[in-house]
Amino acid sequence: MAHGTNGQNGHTCPAQGTEPRLTTANGAPIGVQQALTAGPRGPVLMQDVALLEQMQHFNRERIPERVVHAKGSGAYGTFTVTGDVSKLTRARFLEKAGKKTECFLRFSTVAGERGAADAERDVRGFALRFYTEEGNWDMVGNNTPVFFVRDPYKFQMFIHTQKRHPQTNLRDMDMQWDFWSMCPESLHQVTILFSDRGIPASYRHINGYGSHTYSMINAQGGRVWCKFHFKTRQGIRNMTDDEAAAVIGSDRESHQRDLFEAIARREFPKWRVCIQTMTQAQAEAFRWNPFDLTKVWPHREFPLIEIGELELNRNPENYFAEVEQAAFKPSALVPGIGPSPDKMLQARLMSYADTHLHRLGVNHHQVPVNRPRCPVMNYIRDGALADGAAGSKPNYWPNTVAGTPQPDPAFADPAWKLGQTIVDRFDSTVDHDDYTQPGNLYRLFDEGQRERLATRICGGLGRARKEVQMRQLCHFFRADEDYGRRIAKKLGLDVSAMMAAQPA
Ligand code: NDP
Repeated sequence: MAHGTNGQNGHTCPAQGTEPRLTTANGAPIGVQQALTAGPRGPVLMQDVALLEQMQHFNRERIPERVVHAKGSGAYGTFTVTGDVSKLTRARFLEKAGKKTECFLRFSTVAGERGAADAERDVRGFALRFYTEEGNWDMVGNNTPVFFVRDPYKFQMFIHTQKRHPQTNLRDMDMQWDFWSMCPESLHQVTILFSDRGIPASYRHINGYGSHTYSMINAQGGRVWCKFHFKTRQGIRNMTDDEAAAVIGSDRESHQRDLFEAIARREFPKWRVCIQTMTQAQAEAFRWNPFDLTKVWPHREFPLIEIGELELNRNPENYFAEVEQAAFKPSALVPGIGPSPDKMLQARLMSYADTHLHRLGVNHHQVPVNRPRCPVMNYIRDGALADGAAGSKPNYWPNTVAGTPQPDPAFADPAWKLGQTIVDRFDSTVDHDDYTQPGNLYRLFDEGQRERLATRICGGLGRARKEVQMRQLCHFFRADEDYGRRIAKKLGLDVSAMMAAQPA
């Protein structure tokens, strides 16, 4: 870049050329990028607001790192359906062979902090988002088909043992094995962790597993239980402990480098996507709890069914915006894919969304990498950094305003029988008496109280639309006829037609 001076005080500044103009965050052009001082030796004036802005932003440019899976690498890709699962699920993105859906996959290590080395012995996260036409589906999995614990009370405890000792601030083998030795359900995952697959050669050379049991729901409301598998087409490749030590000695970012560079040279990694399914009858007959996250479903009994292929083919432009801010949550489900009784999944449905509220804030879903590619229309509003996309539309429901989003019963999940109990969304407005008690209260009032009540109500109701007044009037009548007549009179409403229509 060519430089000139601004003459008088000899500061260097860019020549006026084709380069974009430097501005403040407000967009105002910056003339000189040097501190504004009283004389060449200072002090600096508070008036140098561009300097203050730069310093203040810098002080705030980190967000809390993820408590788990802090170190990660991400890439965009494409999921292509190859098998026919339309009989099992109504999920639109799985509806027919050849259909493609944009994805974003974040790999990670579990225990290390954001600056940890990639080539550690650890489980690898495999968090995959499908930007489907019916919303984002986040399958937040790992490179192992099972997990260390099956009860969510133990999850936070387990992670504490993988992190640093409260006094020494060191990773602590006594702590880790103390916990594992007290939790035999961890043995399956411990065996995988310390097997040859415990240190992958790269993120391209691992399988991914949804691990949890999910449900698939078809267009007729039929439900099967389902597990997801992503088999690397690059082949499984691992490092020995000695190889990993050598890699870490020269490159702490080996997995990030491998993934980014492979995609940059258009060597796109691919995974064969498969499912296993289990009917409710099979689940009841299975010798283990099929929803136990420490167990697999043996392939011989529940063979893999190929449904698609995943290819990663685009590097993010900006690591912080797209990878650090990627907020995967198992609660991001789409029609046709649902949860199961798996206790760990049930806990994660809440926990992941909660941690994003803390780390990124209430509008984390508006960050471009998290934003669904389909329209989002609801009554959630405001909060820090709201984009205001809903404009002047109503922020409440139910409402009678034309053109507002309404639930579509076609997307109601079928009821779910859990033992003797039915899990469903029961209508809280039927089988309820909403009128007797308000009526009793009204009848208890003396004439003065009734008049003042009616006057206050009409002060507000009188300013609502006529249609709203009439609907509300019916409620007053149902509670007490005098209550209704009194309000109607004050509002100047003719209720003769309404009374004629009332059943005797
Ligand atoms: P199978 O012989 O049908 O499957 C064995 C599986 O083990 C294959 O998927 C293979 O993956 C995988 N595998 C091989 N070495 C390792 C390792 N070091 N760490 C993790 N997985 C490995 O037997 P079952 O279905 O009866 O399962 C037997 C055991 O295999 C399970 O207890 C579990 O530990 C492991 N496993 C089972 C899976 C399942 O869904 N059934 C999935 C993954 C592991 P690949 O084909 O990619 O080489």
